[in-house]
Amino acid sequence: MNWTRGRTIGRGSTATVSIAATADNSGHVFAVKSSELSKSESLRREQGILSTLSCPEIVSYKGFDITSENGKVLYNLFMEYAPKGTIMDVIQKQNGGLDETTVRSYTRRILLGLQFLHSSGIVHCDIKSQNILVTDDGVKIADLGCARSVTATATATAACTVAGTPVYMAPEVARGEQQGFAADVWALGCTVIEMATGKSPWPDVKDPVSALYRIGFSSDVPEIPNNISKQGKDFLTKCLKRNPVERLSVNELLEHEFITESKCQVVKDQLDSPISVLQKLLLWDSMEELETIQVPSTNKSVMERI
Ligand code: ATP
Ligand code: MG
Ligand code: MG
Repeated sequence: MNWTRGRTIGRGSTATVSIAATADNSGHVFAVKSSELSKSESLRREQGILSTLSCPEIVSYKGFDITSENGKVLYNLFMEYAPKGTIMDVIQKQNGGLDETTVRSYTRRILLGLQFLHSSGIVHCDIKSQNILVTDDGVKIADLGCARSVTATATATAACTVAGTPVYMAPEVARGEQQGFAADVWALGCTVIEMATGKSPWPDVKDPVSALYRIGFSSDVPEIPNNISKQGKDFLTKCLKRNPVERLSVNELLEHEFITESKCQVVKDQLDSPISVLQKLLLWDSMEELETIQVPSTNKSVMERI
C-alpha cells in the first residue's frame, strides 16, 4: 500500500502515532503507530495480537509495513483513526469529568471490549483513559502494546512480566506478583473514577515510585467519588477490591445495575421537566422498562404521571 504520513497525533514511551492517508487520492484516512525497527518489540507484539482480533469495541487493525524515513528504518502498524482522540482528550477539552450517562455508556463499551479480550485469553494490562479511543460508534480499546496472552497451561491469574502505568496498577501488579484478568478490572475502576471526576484515581500521589508503594503495600483503595450514583459507588467498590480474587469478573460487571440500568438513569435525570420526560418517552423503545421507573417527588410511575 502506498501511503503518506501526516501530522503526529500522539506520542508514547516508544512509539509515535500519526494520521496517514493512502496516496491514491481515495481520501482513505487511518492512524499509523511507528517505532524504530530496533526498538519495535512491543509494537510487533501489539501487531501480532491486534491482527487476530475483530470486535467493535477494540480499535480495528488495518495492516503493517516497514519503511525507511529520514535515514531510519521504521515499523508501522496501521489502524482505524479516531478523530475525537481518547477519553483523556475529551476530559481535558471539557476541563472536567463526564456526565454519568456517558460514563455508564463508555464503561459498558470498555467492558464489552474486555469481555472479548478475556474470553480470547488476553489481559490488556494498560487500561486507562489515554488508551481508550472515542469514535462516532462509541469507545474502543486501543494500545495493546502491554497486552499478554494467558497460555493454555496457565491460569487466568498467572504471573507475567509486570506492565502498565503505575497509577492504574492493581495492588498485586504493583507488588510484582501477578497480572491476570482481575488487574484489568482494577484499572477499569481507576478509569471510571477518572471519567467521573476528571482527576487521577490517586490525585495526591506525586510520582510513580510513591504510587507503586502506596498501591502495593498500604491498605488504601482510590477514593470513591461523591458525585456518582449509589450504583456507581457499588460498581467501583466491586472493581477496587485489593484482593484480586474478590474483584468481580468482566462478565459479572456487565450484569451490574450500573451498566444494565443506564437507560433508566437517562430518564431519571430528565424528570425535572415533564416536557423532557415526554421527549424521552417518544424515543423510548421498551414500554416495559418504563413501568419500573419511579418519579421521586410523587413516587408514581412515569406511566401513571403521564
Ligand atoms: P503508552 O506510552 O501509553 O504505552 P503508546 O506508545 O503505547 O503509549 P498509544 O497509546 O497506542 O501509544 O498511542 C499514543 C497516543 O496516540 C494515544 O494516547 C492517543 O492519544 C493517540 N492515538 C493512538 N491511536 C490512535 C488512533 N487510532 N486514533 C487517534 N489517536 C490515536
Ligand atoms: Mg498508550
Ligand atoms: Mg502502550
